Order: sequence, then structure tokens, then C-alpha cells
Amino acid sequence: MRHTHADLPVAVDFDEDFEKSLRAKPRIRCAECQHCRQFQEKALSGRYILKCRCAKGRWFNGKNEATCELHKVSARRRDECPDYKSTSDDEQDKKSFLGDLENFLPIERHIFNPDGSYLDKTETMVWGDDT
Ligand code: SF4
Repeated sequence: MRHTHADLPVAVDFDEDFEKSLRAKPRIRCAECQHCRQFQEKALSGRYILKCRCAKGRWFNGKNEATCELHKVSARRRDECPDYKSTSDDEQDKKSFLGDLENFLPIERHIFNPDGSYLDKTETMVWGDDT
């Protein structure tokens, strides 16, 4: 299995129709696509949360690139994307991965300390530069 995420930039080809569809429904989240990449969003304190972005530049809110917190990633709508590239070895692997997705992803936002340990956190904790 190759279900890993990396932070490598990828050249972007824009598909105007697809861009319009994303703007209409910007909360696209694409688990099981090789271009759905995890990254750390850091606060000034050095703490961070895990988020995902589309390395193909397909997620936009208007002109701004949208990102998605890791626990909110899902498999919805990826099949509609012309750049979708499966992370699975075959259909069985894909089915198994998607079936286990809820177990694989965190159920809520985790805030990490700079050393990678968890901060005592909840969804209700305010996230911002001063966190
Ligand atoms: S399915 Fe498309 S929009 Fe989603 S991560 Fe992959 S390339 Fe990006």
C-alpha cells in the first residue's frame, strides 16, 4: 500500500469547469488521492495542527487556496476530478482503505506541541496565532 502523504509541490493545470464546480461546493476532501497532501499549519507558538491541501491546486475558495483539517478529509467527490490518482494498488485495496477511513483518520482536531507531543486539546479550543 502507498497511503502516504508528502509535501512536494506539483505543477498545476487548471480545468475551468472543475474549478467552477469546486467554487460552488468548496468543501471538497479527497482521501485516497495521491495529490491530497498533509502539511503542518503552525502557530507563532510553534504548535501545529495537521491539514491537507490538493497538490494539484484544485481546492479554492474564490481566489484563495482552501485547505482541510485532517480529521475532515473524506473520499467524497474525488472521482469527479480529472487529476484524481489513486493511492491504492488495486480495487480491493481501495475498497479496504476507504472502508477503514473512519478508523484511520483522527476523529477531531489534535493540536501538537513543537516536539510532536499532543497538547491537551479539544475542538472548542481556539486555534490561532496565539494558541
Ligand atoms: S481528487 Fe483532485 S481535487 Fe482531490 S486531491 Fe486529488 S487532484 Fe486534488
